[in-house]
Amino acid sequence: MLLITCPATRSDELVADRCIRAVTNHPTHIAMHVECPACGRTHVYRTGRKLAAATGPVREARVPIPA
Ligand SMILES: [Zn+2]
Repeated sequence: MLLITCPATRSDELVADRCIRAVTNHPTHIAMHVECPACGRTHVYRTGRKLAAATGPVREARVPIPA
């Protein structure tokens, strides 16, 4: 299972592994083609260790509290 955000409906969808249509290996990332349960189209998501290394670790969003 994986969680995707549909670019058409902007909704978060939990997707089963069988909805992954193709996985393509690229030098900088892995492209995952996922059939979307929300709109029925196929979306491409980039993932992989090398992409995380290129974009840096996910930073926690912090909102400063005014003094
Ligand atoms: Zn979609």
